[in-house]
Amino acid sequence: MPKYLFYRLMYIVLILLSLCTYPAYLQAAALSPVRDGVHSTDIELPKSSSTSSHDSSKSLDSISSDNTSLDPVMTLSQLRQKYAETFKFKGPEIKEIAFTFDDVPDPRFTPQVLDILKKYKVKATFFVVGDRALKHPSLVRRMKEEGHVIGNHSFNHPFFKNKNLVYFKKQIRRTDRIIANLVGYRPKLIRPPYGEITEDQLKWAKQHGYKVVNWNVDSLDWKGLTKDEVKTNILTEVGPGSIILQHAGGGTGSNLSGTIEALPELIQILKKEGYTFVTLPQMLHISKENKKSS
Ligand SMILES: [Zn+2]
Repeated sequence: MPKYLFYRLMYIVLILLSLCTYPAYLQAAALSPVRDGVHSTDIELPKSSSTSSHDSSKSLDSISSDNTSLDPVMTLSQLRQKYAETFKFKGPEIKEIAFTFDDVPDPRFTPQVLDILKKYKVKATFFVVGDRALKHPSLVRRMKEEGHVIGNHSFNHPFFKNKNLVYFKKQIRRTDRIIANLVGYRPKLIRPPYGEITEDQLKWAKQHGYKVVNWNVDSLDWKGLTKDEVKTNILTEVGPGSIILQHAGGGTGSNLSGTIEALPELIQILKKEGYTFVTLPQMLHISKENKKSS
């Protein structure tokens, strides 16, 4: 075979190979454990959080990305300042607390969390992952029927800081449609996986009527902590207007029994301290529904 033909053939084989493996990679990423305090076990990334003490965005800035934005990369705290009306991480300083549960629905953990909230008459906010909602639609309907608020947590939990705006929009809109089919409204709330978002994405969210809501108290429950560790993490940080990050869904091998066992005690302790439990729309005085998004 002439040399040039051989090289051409190799080139075509390489292109075909990359086309075949790319979707497989996406699939693997989609199925990998989803945790907000830290990234999945498959794609190890630094911990991220909304609190300044936990803000790891500086270290993330060095990650190579296909984000086409030419603007200098802004840290989460800079974005919070610049887009204060859109990008929230806490509520007004009154004795209200918002429990938020990410990575739902998950039949292993979500029903137990819902049972506890029902027993203590507490309303919370659940951040739903689109592909999980497709697999367990009845759990999403149950959240709505029991008075909780649903937010958008992407379609398959990607790390948005590495993604361009087109990708972000697709993830949000697709999940909006899935949620709207199940509960009858398109959510106003977005929580980006790992709390990470770019300025482009945030700007788009603002223009289309969303609020992007992270947290200022991280339970770190995704680590498989004990009940007492989850309680301590929350009780040492909590205050008026706190938005607490917990999970009611996880990846393969996740253990959220700490969160489930801690929840009744946390509710009782915080109630005694004079706090009331509210959903994010109640805390932020906004609608749960985004009428501008369609
Ligand atoms: Zn998550």
